[in-house]
Amino acid sequence: MDDKSWAARAREYSMYGFTDMPSVEDRGTIVLTRGEGPYVFDTQGRKWLDSNSGLWNMVAGFDHPGLIEAAKAQYDRFPGYHAFFGRMSDQTVMLSEKLVEVSPFRRGKVFYTNSGSEANDTMVKMLWFLHRSEGKPQRRKILTRWNAYHGVTAISASMTGKPYNEVFGLPLDGFIHLTCPHFWRYGNPGESEAEFVARLARELEDTIQREGADTIAGFFAEPVQGAGGVIPPAKGYFQAIQPILKKHGIPFIADEVITGFGRTGNTWGCQTYDFVPDAIISSKNLTAGFFPMGAVILGPELSDRLDAAITPIEEFPHGFTASGHPVGCAIALKAIDVVMNEGLAQNVIDKAPRMEAGLRDIMQRHANIGELRGVGYMWALEAVKDPETRQPFPGHLSVSERIANTCTDLGLICRPLGQSIVLCPPFILTDAQMDEMFEKLDAALTRVFDGLRA
Ligand code: PLP
Repeated sequence: MDDKSWAARAREYSMYGFTDMPSVEDRGTIVLTRGEGPYVFDTQGRKWLDSNSGLWNMVAGFDHPGLIEAAKAQYDRFPGYHAFFGRMSDQTVMLSEKLVEVSPFRRGKVFYTNSGSEANDTMVKMLWFLHRSEGKPQRRKILTRWNAYHGVTAISASMTGKPYNEVFGLPLDGFIHLTCPHFWRYGNPGESEAEFVARLARELEDTIQREGADTIAGFFAEPVQGAGGVIPPAKGYFQAIQPILKKHGIPFIADEVITGFGRTGNTWGCQTYDFVPDAIISSKNLTAGFFPMGAVILGPELSDRLDAAITPIEEFPHGFTASGHPVGCAIALKAIDVVMNEGLAQNVIDKAPRMEAGLRDIMQRHANIGELRGVGYMWALEAVKDPETRQPFPGHLSVSERIANTCTDLGLICRPLGQSIVLCPPFILTDAQMDEMFEKLDAALTRVFDGLRA
């Protein structure tokens, strides 16, 4: 094995997630060894500015000393335990208190998982369990939206509103996808944003009437759709739909796996968009990416109802070996402190206008960028063939992949999603690093769009 390159060894023995292998063969595999601030380095010493914070999660960068210290200290104290059978670690207890305290609910309960997908699955199972125990076992359908991303397990992939899950024969029955609230792309010609929102609210009401409110277990939404291509909701969207859900007694779950803990500036995306859901799904930057962990944070009503449903003869038969892992909890406690109290979320608030201005400047220099959208430190630039008609480039041109690959060549990691390029940097980015990101992205766009015109 020794005489093979790292890239060859990676390709021969490992599988990647969401990867088109022939294109990796073309460009070469990157094997990373270390990080420094927002930069990552590979086995050959090459360096990239990771404008995607890994997968949105490494918000404090790749070498935060406080987080590393918190992990080491907890490994010394108590390196692992579960949260089953009436036992859990002291760190787990403290993290739950903290999560409820920083949640918009102030009262509630937390259940831990190892990932965002599992947290969404857990929430769905909680709703199924709850409705059944309340004498409504038929309340099983789940409402989500097109372009939503909720994960990859069978339930969370069914919630995800992406056609690629058809290769698995998903979604499962009873998972219903509503229109994505992206006005720029899905607004009808001549329709105002308010009319678009009213149409989506009508669609929700009609769907509930058609399916029967008594068959629906819950509604899930990301405050800003992330992996769908950074799609902030149309203005007034959540205010229009939440009363409909309330009227029909349908729990509203905010999937804050990306938007939680500062990504939109506030602690939660639901605060940025001014609504209070019935429960929150958290993961990713819950631990600043330093430990795999997810959490379901129940608000008071769902938490009380579940408490009533879980009786001595009816346990909640669900949990993961590493749920509430003490090292993960210790890291999360530190991460929340670092992000919320040591200025990282404040950086997002202070510098989001700079980020937006820099990206708008880039958009103005490239006629083939049709839309800039985002909030806080999550932005996307959407490429279009024709800016007038917003017609996308033909799929076979793989425009966003070309842009991302060119960025990689220039020392910048960014992510192609559909025809968009996504930028969601760590919250520690300095102004000089932000400028480096702008310069490299701008150069890549020039190269790719000039190449397409040639
Ligand atoms: N929910 C949202 C909004 C996400 O963006 C993701 C992952 O990107 C998930 C859930 C799934 O999380 P995980 O990849 O940790 O399973």
